[in-house]
Amino acid sequence: MMRAMATTFQRARSGEQMIEVEEAQRRVLAEVPVFGVEEVALVDALGRVLREDVAAPDDAPQRDNSAMDGYAVRAEDVAKAPVSLRVIEDLPAGTVATKRVAAGTAIRIMTGALLPEGADSVVQVELTDAGSDVVRVGEAVPRGANVRRRGEDMHRGDVVLRDGTPIRAGELGVLASVQQRVVRVGRRPEIAIFSTGDEVIDVDAPRALGKVVNSNAYALAALVREAGAIARVLPIVPDRAEATVKAIEEALKSDFVVSSGGVSAGAFDFVKDALDSLGAETKFWQVAMKPGKPVVLSRVRDRLYFGLPGNPVSCMVAFLLFVAPSIRKAMGQRSAILPPIANVRLAAPLRGKGDRRTYFRVRVVAMDGELVAQPAPAQGSGVLTSMIGANGLAILERGTTRAEAGSVVPCVLIASVASE
Ligand code: AMP
Ligand code: MG
Repeated sequence: MMRAMATTFQRARSGEQMIEVEEAQRRVLAEVPVFGVEEVALVDALGRVLREDVAAPDDAPQRDNSAMDGYAVRAEDVAKAPVSLRVIEDLPAGTVATKRVAAGTAIRIMTGALLPEGADSVVQVELTDAGSDVVRVGEAVPRGANVRRRGEDMHRGDVVLRDGTPIRAGELGVLASVQQRVVRVGRRPEIAIFSTGDEVIDVDAPRALGKVVNSNAYALAALVREAGAIARVLPIVPDRAEATVKAIEEALKSDFVVSSGGVSAGAFDFVKDALDSLGAETKFWQVAMKPGKPVVLSRVRDRLYFGLPGNPVSCMVAFLLFVAPSIRKAMGQRSAILPPIANVRLAAPLRGKGDRRTYFRVRVVAMDGELVAQPAPAQGSGVLTSMIGANGLAILERGTTRAEAGSVVPCVLIASVASE
């Protein structure tokens, strides 16, 4: 294809310096608004962020109840065990006793059943002969034994879940237990994704020399979904100014825009020019990190635009460090917005140039009570297979060129730690 030659390489414009990752994250999060609220059915709340305080409507448990199958007794009656007690009632879970435990008597009780009046303790069945009319208790139990206290889980009126909490299985269970059938959650941002590059072809296109399959769109869409947002993937954009402008305009219909490629210093890197022509306000366009140095953050027509590098690893790393936290904030999460950093012991050495902070893809496993990181064998920013199984980005700071096997380095955790 012939086209007008874009003959100059892109140059940094005045006032645009390379900034550190933390500064870039600060600038990103400062630009991200918290989105509105919507109501979803309880079952659909998984992976969303709670946007209301939820209080307990009642004490839980509602009353003292039994933590064991056994016999509700007065502790003083069994203090001199072995003793025999008369069994006056049978109490399955969910039922309420009609009788009172008086001296010398017991009520047979199942786990979860409310403790009858008069009783202060439960003797587990294993300590008895399991009698029906009369029970022989073989051992004394302390007062309060095997009793779950009223309100030990929740107190009526207490806020048990706070606005801004991500909803996982535990939170969903609590919401169910307080009968919150409809939940107010943060709206999920829709993220428009497009890839730039004359070399980039669709997944179903014939393979051809010099062409690169658009893996970034798939990887980015997956990362968007993992972050809980909605991915809207747009067609591949050729390296032409007008096409890039048109694509950005279409993408701006979504809440955020994420593009891959076209942001480095190449002669055909049109994203910055296109953003400029749309009147975008660029917040930064280079971050002192490897992989992923060319990362653009812009504000265009009240939307946030993330221009990520085309190299597949750089693209994903930049997403994890800048876009995923933005999604979490937009959905209403209040804390733990940035990915966690933990110390890991290296199973193999790391070697870098030391010119910028370098993130090495590693597999972090828990071994002998410690986090051990196995670096992927090839660490180039184009080595997409280095992302297979990667759940950490081990860090060598600027000025550090090596870390030996056995040494401890900080590591960004990007997925759950694996078992050995
Ligand atoms: P760029 O940032 O546009 O200079 O792209 C850098 C390199 O990343 C290209 O040479 C391609 O090999 C690769 N690349 C660009 N876009 C994609 C894509 N959508 N999917 C996979 N690889 C890509
Ligand atoms: Mg390109």
